[in-house]
Amino acid sequence: MKYMTRQCRLILAIVADSCGHMTADEVYREAKKSMPRIAVGTVYRNLKELSDAGVLRRIRVADAPDLFDATLTPHEHLICPICGRVEDLLAEGLEECLRKAVGSGRFSYELRISAPCSLCREKNGSSDRTTEKSVR
Ligand SMILES: [Zn+2]
Ligand SMILES: [Zn+2]
Repeated sequence: MKYMTRQCRLILAIVADSCGHMTADEVYREAKKSMPRIAVGTVYRNLKELSDAGVLRRIRVADAPDLFDATLTPHEHLICPICGRVEDLLAEGLEECLRKAVGSGRFSYELRISAPCSLCREKNGSSDRTTEKSVR
């Protein structure tokens, strides 16, 4: 991006500092703390520009608002059906695998993994995990 406005820099900093995934509304609420007069439309427009420019990654979530992610290293997203938390998940080798399948042209993909997140897994029976281990 050639020119970043003050609002744009603030929005980028908010998402980067969150170390997680934020909806546009969450970014708006955060931005208002530093810039009480910022308009919701400004936040949406800047988020769109930042994700179009590849500075932020936009994650589409089924039945929920899009999320914005400042982590640009390749990773997938696990969406917890129990609590709705979004967790980063490394699927190493996936890109190479797809590359082999589609050849050398440009490609993009979206992968949504639905599984209990680490917090919910911890809550629900860490006991069956230990039995699993002892079998091995
Ligand atoms: Zn969960
Ligand atoms: Zn992520």
